[in-house]
This record gives sequence, C-alpha cells and structure tokens, in this order.
Amino acid sequence: MHGKDIAIAGCGPAGLTAALLLRRDGHRVTLFERFETARPVGSGLMIQPTGLAVLAHLGLDAEIAASGARVDRLFGVSVPSGRPVLDVRYAALGPDAGHGIGIHRAALFNTLHGAALAEGIPMRTGRAITASALEADGRRKLVFADGGQSEAFDLIVDALGTMTPLAPPTGRPLPYGAFWATLDWVDGAGFDITALEQRYFRSSRMVGVLPIGRPAPGDRPKLAFFWSLRRDRREAWEAAGLDSWKAEVEALWPQTAPLLEQITAPEQLTFARYAHRTLRRPAEPGLIHLGDAWHSTSPQLGQGANMAMLDAYALAAALRRTDDIREAGARAVALRRTHVRLYQTMSTLFTPVYQSDGRLLPLARDRLAGPLSNVWPFPAVLAGMVSGLTGRPLRGLGLSVRPPAPAAAPAHQRTADPVQ
Ligand SMILES: Cc1cc2nc3c(=O)[nH]c(=O)nc-3n(C[C@H](O)[C@H](O)[C@H](O)COP(=O)(O)OP(=O)(O)OC[C@H]3O[C@@H](n4cnc5c(N)ncnc54)[C@H](O)[C@@H]3O)c2cc1C
Repeated sequence: MHGKDIAIAGCGPAGLTAALLLRRDGHRVTLFERFETARPVGSGLMIQPTGLAVLAHLGLDAEIAASGARVDRLFGVSVPSGRPVLDVRYAALGPDAGHGIGIHRAALFNTLHGAALAEGIPMRTGRAITASALEADGRRKLVFADGGQSEAFDLIVDALGTMTPLAPPTGRPLPYGAFWATLDWVDGAGFDITALEQRYFRSSRMVGVLPIGRPAPGDRPKLAFFWSLRRDRREAWEAAGLDSWKAEVEALWPQTAPLLEQITAPEQLTFARYAHRTLRRPAEPGLIHLGDAWHSTSPQLGQGANMAMLDAYALAAALRRTDDIREAGARAVALRRTHVRLYQTMSTLFTPVYQSDGRLLPLARDRLAGPLSNVWPFPAVLAGMVSGLTGRPLRGLGLSVRPPAPAAAPAHQRTADPVQ
C-alpha cells in the first residue's frame, strides 16, 4: 500500500478528522481553509456515542470529555399544557450504551485542530476554494478565489460544509433557523446540568438550553441557548427589539430569566440557517464529499458533526483496504450510505414536528410522543435515534461505543505551528 497525496478542503469536524486519520495511516495530507486563522463559527453542539467512538480511536475522547458536559437525557415540554413531549435517556440502550457530550464548537475545533498541529499536518489558510480541476491522469487540483491553483493531488476531500463549491447545488433551505448564544451556566436556576432541555409552543416556537462544559481551561461552565425563528421573520424580530423578544421567551419558559439577563445586545445572538441536502454522487474521480458537503439537515437530531466524523473514518478505512482511489471512494460511500439515508429520512420526517407552522403535527406530538416515550420499545428506539446508533453505523467500520477515558491535557497546548 502506497501513501497518497491528499488535499483536504475545509477545517471543520469532517476535514480535521479525515486529516488526522489519513495522516496516521501514512498518507501525505495537506489541509486548506479559507480563514486566515482557522476558527469555528457558532455555539454548542452534541457529540453522540458515534462521534465519540471516532474521537476515542484518535485518542481525543478524554480531552473532549474534559472540555464538554456529559448529557444523559433529552427532555422537552410543550407549553402551556406542561406535557412532556420528548423524554429520551441514553441509558435506555443499556449500561454500556454511552451518553452524549454537550460541547462548545470551539472546544471540539481546538481539540481536533490542536491534534492536527501536533502531528505537523500542513495547513494552508487564507485559501478560499472556488472549484476543482480534474487532470488527464485522474489527479485533481484545487482552484482558489484569487485565480491560483494548487498542485495536483491523488484525492481531494471536500469537507467544505453545506455551501461547498466543489459539488453541484442541491437540496433546499429550511424555513426555520435559530438564534444561538453561549451564556454562563447559572447554578440554582433549575436547569438540569445532565440534560438538553427544550420548551415548545406548538412547533413554531422552541427555546433550548444545552450544557456545554468549560470551552477553555479556567472558563466558568457554559451553556448553549437557542431560539428557533422562521428566516423570513428575522427582520420583524430585529424591529421589535430585544426586550419584546425576552418577554416572549420568558413567558414560554420563566426559568430562562437569569439567562436572558446575560443578553444585552442582539450581537450576542448568532442566527444559524439550516438546509436539507443530500448529494447523489458523493464520490467522483479524484474527489470525495464528506460531512455536510455530502449531506446536511436541520440540527434537530444533533447528528451532523458526528456523521461528518464517521464519514472521515469510512474514507480512512476504505483506503486501508485498497490502493485504488476510485475504488476507495466507492467503498467509503458504501460504508456510510445506509446510515446517511436513514438519518436524512428521519430528519425530513421529524423536523416539521418541532419546527413548522402547522397545528396538527404538534397537536399529535403533544398527545402521543410524551406517553409513548415511556412505553416499550420506544425508550430504546428513541435513545438509538438520538445517539446516532440506529442502523448500527459503527459495526461496518469496526468501531464500538466506548466510555470516554479520564480527562487529559489539551493537545493544542503542546504544539508547534506548521501553518504555511
Ligand atoms: C446551529 C447548529 C447546531 C448544530 N448542532 C449540532 C449538534 O448538536 N450535533 C451535531 O453533530 N451537529 C450539529 N450541527 C451540525 C454540524 O455543525 C455540522 O454537521 C458539522 O459542522 C459539519 O461538519 P463539516 O466539517 O462537514 O462542515 P463545516 O463544519 O461546515 O466545516 C467546513 C469548513 O470549510 C471551510 N470552508 C467553507 N467554504 C470554504 C471555501 N470556499 N474555501 C475554503 N474553506 C471553506 C469553513 O470555514 C469550515 O472550516 C449543528 C449545526 C448548526 C448550524
């Protein structure tokens, strides 16, 4: 088996995970990123047992566990009825089924990016990619916004996220997005530090609180706070002002008052747009699309970053089995396709139940979901869905759910910087 020349486009979870795995397998890997200083955008996310399995393989699970917050339960209540409509515990899958970790995006990024720096993976930053060019010998080059081109690579890994310019446009933007903010955890406010908690009014309003641990050593414990909003109502939201919005949130969930006090300017809230898209051909000659560049959804099921890491693992596993780039691409896609289809379908079905303007779906949800979530076999079915384990995605990859190892010092604190 010969090491390949591989360009990885994008320093998100998919790109950094792929870079680490492929480098460790002896490939010559170069990362490309548009930011001058590679950085994450946004607030918190959930690492699931699936993503943790990949991070454990990389030896990074302990660092993730140290900077995130263990999440054992997802709990949602419909307002004003007070009916629980979502009550999922990871433990329903058994004592060894693992758990989630709420984490700041920056902490996940720092762990992966720090490990990539520690391994001396070359990173070319400030390179906005616009296209790729296939050479006659089957190798590919990246094309940059300034008109320049990279050298040719055996394989280009497209990990540029949902707006990738390396794939044909596909899919559709979703009507609902959300405002996100990172706030200090408030002891005694009545939130459960081991749960992702949400409150819903029908399916048109949703507010959520996710504990995300201490993003950086010495930080106070944090939480990710989110509020869903239809994209076309954003201007009206801005015009109405912060106080009117705070009153609306507090009416929905009075406990959030000490959190809302921390929000004093609209700039503290970042608006995230969501899109639902799945590429028909995730592998092309000399090119493979991973993570959101292949498939993206609303984050309702909390799987995107985890699926991105699984995609990266599948590519590395495929390249361990064959020297042929085209065959490796097809094999990697085959390893992931069923799981991707399953979760894309579930997301299509479930997103409107929690984010839409309809009245019937939330009514049915309120009457059925809460009671059913405690009746066999639903606790285990729901826990499987949330943990990302439905469809057994780890089995074909030779991975397994593992409890995180004890906390470790962040790798990015022990490195030299090979940025080119
Ligand atoms: C609000 C919100 C909440 C979420 N919550 C969760 C959750 O709880 N759990 C979960 O698993 N997932 C969650 N997700 C989804 C998750 O964030 C994505 O699925 C994940 O980040 C995808 O990783 P990726 O590496 O494929 O792409 P990205 O994270 O989008 O990374 C793409 C990288 O490519 C770079 N790039 C993009 N375009 C160019 C270009 N033209 N040239 C050069 N570089 C470029 C970007 O700067 C970035 O570094 C959430 C998403 C959002 C928006």
